[in-house]
Parts: sequence; structure tokens; C-alpha cells
Amino acid sequence: MADKFDVIVIGAGPGGYVAAIRAAQMGLKTACVEKWIGKEGNVVHGGTCLNVGCIPSKALLEASHKFVEAQHDFDDMGIEAGDVTMDVKKMMARKDKIVKNLTGGIAGLFKANGVTALEGTGKVIGSKQVEVTDKDGNAATHEADNIVVAAGSVPVEIPPTPLTEGLIVDSTGALEFQQTPKRLGVIGAGVIGLELGSVWNRLGSEVTVLEAMDDFLPMVDGAIAKETQKLLKKQGLDIKLGARVTGSEVKGDEVVVKYSDAKGEQEITFDKLIVCVGRKPYTKGVIGDGVGVELDERGFIHVDDQCRTSVPGVYAIGDCVRGPMLAHKASEEGVMVADIIAGHKAEMNYDAIPSVIYTFPEVAWVGMTEQDAKAAGIEVKTGAFPFAASGRAMANNATEGQAKVIADAETDRILGLHIVGQHAGEMIAQGVIAMEFGSSAEDLALSCYAHPTMSEAVHEAALAVEGHAIHMANRKKRK
Ligand code: FAD
Ligand code: AMP
Repeated sequence: MADKFDVIVIGAGPGGYVAAIRAAQMGLKTACVEKWIGKEGNVVHGGTCLNVGCIPSKALLEASHKFVEAQHDFDDMGIEAGDVTMDVKKMMARKDKIVKNLTGGIAGLFKANGVTALEGTGKVIGSKQVEVTDKDGNAATHEADNIVVAAGSVPVEIPPTPLTEGLIVDSTGALEFQQTPKRLGVIGAGVIGLELGSVWNRLGSEVTVLEAMDDFLPMVDGAIAKETQKLLKKQGLDIKLGARVTGSEVKGDEVVVKYSDAKGEQEITFDKLIVCVGRKPYTKGVIGDGVGVELDERGFIHVDDQCRTSVPGVYAIGDCVRGPMLAHKASEEGVMVADIIAGHKAEMNYDAIPSVIYTFPEVAWVGMTEQDAKAAGIEVKTGAFPFAASGRAMANNATEGQAKVIADAETDRILGLHIVGQHAGEMIAQGVIAMEFGSSAEDLALSCYAHPTMSEAVHEAALAVEGHAIHMANRKKRK
């Protein structure tokens, strides 16, 4: 028997490493087990998010966006940049450096907070026992009064398009291309598909996105989704809706994809294909036989609102449990669970979790869409404001998009904020905070916003709920 801990966390992604740090900050003797082998052959922390998710994708999105700006926007600003070229290998090296810095930083945070880092594969073998097997196959059993499973998720694979080295890849493979493919196929017009499709479209690929559903971004307010679709199309993304991929054939260096749409069976040839059809919980080998931790019908670890599993003292958080598969949701669950273990009262507001698509412009939302609210029988009033009428947006060369506030018609309480526009991912925090505080649209409308900022569009959208936007034709007379 090895050490005894108050808490052992399995997985050091944004759910697990945050849970471990918070638990240690609460005075609990904490260990965190991780098995991810990084590019240099050693165990690295940070999980999907830091290694192959949020961070590397944003590094490529930022670089590719700057490339487009340098090509198309500089001239108008009086900047002569000459011929702008992109060195894909250098862009990738920068991305790898950022990943290395951040993943390495977690080891430092663990040390500073007194978290014991255990390297190897963790397995819950009893309600208070975790077995850790290192890469040489040596197993040690550690005891803990509480266990937090934060094992994350992996990409979904579909039978019609089995992954084929360098040709048919998942999101992880799409972050490693060393040159720009000429014809790129993306299956799935979800968050990850649109982000990765955008990166390579900006670098010169002809990108076709095949999406089985007829609706584009159904989780986003209809008006915002419609505008986003139009903007991405203008940038050159060919998004085919109602196109279900049914098969593929690798022919030399090409892949022929079969799909069916309203017109019947179709075929299209690509140089590379990215499969982005979602992610599934990763629970393989994490829970030992007979422990009693239940999974739900979709393979997620079954938890209550406070992330307790069916076994007392065993918690599960992040992508391996229900709810949106987002890094910040995983981290907040980590904090909640650590606080509960430390004896505090803690809960999360799952209605106020923001989502962001880091395309250009960004799409960000929190809370209900107008369509959701109506379907739930809630009478709403809405206010929208276009960035085309924003002075800051003009100065930034970012006049595309709009902000839309959705409020309860009776109480004026904010039910949702949906934005497509530059820095939407930063602006959405206003909606989150407003909803956390139970604010009304009038609360936002009566707040003083700095000028000139992109955020003023949110202010104006809140004013527009009553028809009183200043920089837009008013619809109503003041009562
Ligand atoms: P993970 O990050 O998957 O971490 C789980 C960890 O557990 C891994 O390190 C794994 O090795 C470890 N593990 C599993 N089993 C064991 C075991 N038995 N023993 C030891 N260790 C184990 N989310 C956002 O919020 N914003 C974004 O911009 C964003 N972009 C993304 C882009 C891409 C391309 C992808 C793929 C995902 C993106 N996500 C984004 C999603 C985000 O990465 C996940 O929601 C987040 O990483 C989930 O955190 P987690 O801690 O639950 O799991
Ligand atoms: P997300 O879960 O947000 O990453 O999105 C994944 C997307 O992939 C969803 O919009 C699915 O409809 C889509 N999808 C899943 N399977 C297929 C398929 N066989 N062909 C085309 N699109 C698919």
C-alpha cells in the first residue's frame, strides 16, 4: 500500500488539474494521476484542452486570421506588407511551443500548491482505493477518502470514414498538418469542424463541410446562426447542410467521400478529410469491476447535480459526465467538487455556461435562444444591435455581426445573450455575469459602457429590448 490522501483526482485536464489545485488550496492532501504521453515521450498535464484542443486550435486560428488580415485588411489601413506568405511548419512550431509552456506550467502549479503528481494510469478499484500503473507496468495502490474521476473524452469515429494515417484524420490530426491541403473535407459543422475548417480555409484550402443536419448551429439563436452561416460562406467555406456521409474510399493520395442529400447519392474527392462528428466520454479502464459506479445509456458516468456518482465519496466531472463538453464547465465542476469535499456548500448554475466558436467573427452565446424560449412557452422580448453601427467596429475593420439580448417579456430578466462579432468570446462574459446576478435587460441598459468598445453593442442590444437603442432607428416611444 502506498500513500493515503484526502483526495485523488484521476486525469489532469482542465477538470482534473483545477479540482486538484482547489482541493489542495482547501487544505486537503491531494494527488492527481495522469497518463497522457506528450510529444517528447514524458507524461504531460493539461488533457485534451491544452494538448490537442482549446489551446492549439486557438494558436492556429489566431495565426491564420492574422495571415488573412495581412493579405486583405492592411492595404486599406495604409500598411504595405508586400507579398505575405505563410510558413505552415513555423506556425505549427509556435503552436507546439505554447502547448509545451502551458502543460509544463501545470507541474509548477501542482508543486506550488502541494499537489502530488502521480504518473500512470489510474483505476478506481474500491470506493477509497485507486490503483496507479506506471508506463513500465508497475502498479501501486493509493488510498483516498474521496476520488474524483476527470477522465475526459475522445473523438467519435464513424464507420463510413475510418481514420487513415495522414489522409482521414480526427481533430488531433488536423492540428498537425505540415502543409495546406488543396481540397479539404470536414465532416460535421459543429464547433470544432467550423474552427478547423476556418484555419485551413484561411491558409488556402478549398474547404467543404458536410453536415447531416438541415439546421446550422441549432444551439445558437436563429438570427445569429443565419448571419454566421452567411459570413462563413462569404469567406469561402462551402457548408453543405442535410449532407450525411455514408462511405469513403481511399484512392492513392485522395479520399472519395460518399454522402446523401436531398438530391440523392453524391461523391466528392478531397486531399484530406477531417472527421469532426463529436466527442464521447472516455471511461475505458477507469472504473474497476464491482466498484458500483454507474454509467448512463450514452456511456457518461452518471452523476447528480453536484457531480456525485452512485458510490459515496466518488465524484466525476468534465467531459466524462453529462453537460456541455467545454473546458470551463469541467473546471467549474472541479472547483465545486473540491469545495464540497472540503465541507463547503457549493453548486453550479448550468444555465449560465457560455459557449464560443472561435471563427472570425467569433460566435458566442449563453442561455436560451429566442426559439428555445418560445418552445418552452415563455413570452420573450428581444433587442439586437448590428456591429455595422458601432464606431469601434468600424475602427477595427470588424463591422460584421450583431449582438442579441433575449429577455422575459413579463419580468425583463435576461434569458440569453447571443453574439456574432469580433471578440464575441470576450463580450459574452457580460451575459454570464448578468444571468448569474439575475439581471434584467434594463440593468444592462442602465450600466455605463466605455466608449468606443465592441461591448457597446451589447449595451445597445439591451436598450433595444425596449426599442430605445441610441445609435439605431428607435421602434418605440419612451413611456
Ligand atoms: P480532458 O481534457 O480530456 O482530460 C482528461 C485527462 O484524463 C487526460 O489528460 C487523460 O489522459 C486523463 N486520463 C484519462 N483516463 C485516465 C486514467 N485512467 N489515468 C490517468 N489519466 C487518465 N473547450 C472549450 O471550452 N473551449 C475551446 O475553445 C475548446 N476547443 C476545443 C478544440 C478541440 C480541437 C477539441 C478536441 C476540444 C476543444 N474543447 C474546447 C473541449 C475541451 O478540450 C474539453 O471540454 C476539455 O478538455 C474537457 O476537460 P476534462 O478535464 O473533462 O477532460
Ligand atoms: P459537434 O458534436 O458539435 O462537434 O458536431 C458534430 C456534427 O457532426 C453534428 O452536427 C452532427 O450532425 C454531424 N455529423 C455526425 N455524423 C455525421 C455524418 N455521417 N455526416 C455528416 N455529418 C455528421
